[in-house]
Amino acid sequence: MENILEVINLRKNFNKFALKDISFTLPKGYIMGFIGPNGAGKSTTIKLIMNLLKKDGGQIKVFGKDHIQHEKEIKQHIGFVYDESHFYDELTLDETKKFIAPFYKSWDDHVFHKYIKIFQLPLDKKIKELSKGMKMKFSLALALSHDAKLLIMDEPTSGLDPIVRSELLDILYEIIQDEEKSVFFSTHITSDLEKVADYITFIHEGEIVLSMAKDDILDNYCIVKGGIDLLDTYNQKAFVGIRKTQYNFQGLIDCREKVQNLFKGNVIIEKPSLEDIMLYIVRGKQYA
Ligand code: ADP
Ligand code: MG
Repeated sequence: MENILEVINLRKNFNKFALKDISFTLPKGYIMGFIGPNGAGKSTTIKLIMNLLKKDGGQIKVFGKDHIQHEKEIKQHIGFVYDESHFYDELTLDETKKFIAPFYKSWDDHVFHKYIKIFQLPLDKKIKELSKGMKMKFSLALALSHDAKLLIMDEPTSGLDPIVRSELLDILYEIIQDEEKSVFFSTHITSDLEKVADYITFIHEGEIVLSMAKDDILDNYCIVKGGIDLLDTYNQKAFVGIRKTQYNFQGLIDCREKVQNLFKGNVIIEKPSLEDIMLYIVRGKQYA
């Protein structure tokens, strides 16, 4: 399988925060959701991929090529959507487009106007007159109009109402129906992933906790519930995270076979949601 994006032992040190040698890979033709709580290091990682920040170690390859050595060529084929609007407020959409289009060799005005129509964007309005959702759609229209093979987006759904968010996710899903295209987007909302992500990379405090196909994650983890008397120091160690009351416990375990061996059918086993998995991983150690 061809890889569109490879991040290998990437390191970045700030005063009070560090990305700690993170690694993950996005195969061509898929959507990867990059999820983690606020401050986990998502924007930092994306800025490093885009070479807007200087890395302290590791390697990043886009389309199989080093992202700095081949920066110009690579950026021609990346559609990048920032987390904050970086357009000039006083320009109209049409003026903004005319400013941006010349940077791209494969700019296609037909495609641009196709998306303007689909998204129902007013070309004669100024950027400052757009709602947050419209700004996001406009960013996306620009990102999609130069034949990008990889879309990179930092929190595209944050601050959007549920309807616009759902529309945006539908658009992403449609984009990857074209097998040449891949999407990498960050979010802190797990429901974004349930709908469209093929792969999930979960970052927490600058470390990758999990990077896997979504279906494998959902198949491998289970929630186990039972009476507190079933727990001992040995089987407790198997949990990713566990919550206890006086009488009962419930916890997340990463493999069904383990449960059979540990509890011999004396427990209730349930399928977790992505939200459950994230919460247990983040809070697991506090509960224990
Ligand atoms: P996320 O996008 O996941 O919310 P960020 O990558 O923006 O998280 O930030 C991760 C951490 O790095 C935060 O604690 C943030 O304060 C810190 N950070 C981000 N940029 C800088 C910087 N330029 N200098 C120092 N610290 C930074
Ligand atoms: Mg961020």
